[in-house]
Amino acid sequence: MRKKFSVSGLTLFFLLSVLAVCRGTDVDTMVYVTNTGRRYHRENCSSLRRSRIPISLGEAAQSGYEPCSICNPPRLSENIPVPEKSGNTLYRVNVAELTLSVEAELSRMVPAEVIDHVDGDTVRVRILNAPAQVGAVETIRLIGVDTPETVHPSRPVERFGKAASDFTREGLLGKPVYLAFDWDLRDRYGRLLAYIYTGDGRCFNARIVREGYGFAYTRYPFQFMEEFRALERDARAEKQGLWGDES
Ligand SMILES: [Zn+2]
Repeated sequence: MRKKFSVSGLTLFFLLSVLAVCRGTDVDTMVYVTNTGRRYHRENCSSLRRSRIPISLGEAAQSGYEPCSICNPPRLSENIPVPEKSGNTLYRVNVAELTLSVEAELSRMVPAEVIDHVDGDTVRVRILNAPAQVGAVETIRLIGVDTPETVHPSRPVERFGKAASDFTREGLLGKPVYLAFDWDLRDRYGRLLAYIYTGDGRCFNARIVREGYGFAYTRYPFQFMEEFRALERDARAEKQGLWGDES
């Protein structure tokens, strides 16, 4: 009898401990992901040497990240529901039948923060409360623009590539932005295709072309193609940026 009681006591202690752990392991617990990986980690995991992006456990689970097998980060208890992703709320300018980038509505876009800069037309963003189809961390290829190459290993830096890259870094890195989408959500590399708007309501893709930091990229049709072609003509006529006289 005495022995049985002590086993029950232990069992109770064990259950209370489990309960305490479960209560601590909720959707708001911070874990860490990398720029490229599909696993989430504890803060001190060696896998985080190259990049370390904090996200909540709920977000990690929602975005399909798996727990790292090295650092064994906290997992969501199966009793705690992962918050439902909001429905198909991606704002698509083709569906809205817009013809000018300035007509897009910031309030309908997906808010994000630019966390890394790749080159003039590619950035990494962190997306809070990511809607369905979109991860918590994404690489974005800006729609409708093509900036001179800077990172190609086997070619000399293209003329103006560095300036274009700096323009995007200075204009976007660390800033809150808003994402709008178009016909195709992703390119063949899996990158998210988006228009990036800044808080002042300006379309950064359009600014790149208008200020001469890149070309209108018309190989694939997009909703603002005619506008971007006109912006490129204006930039060329005014010798903006890469259209300037060779020095
Ligand atoms: Zn890890």
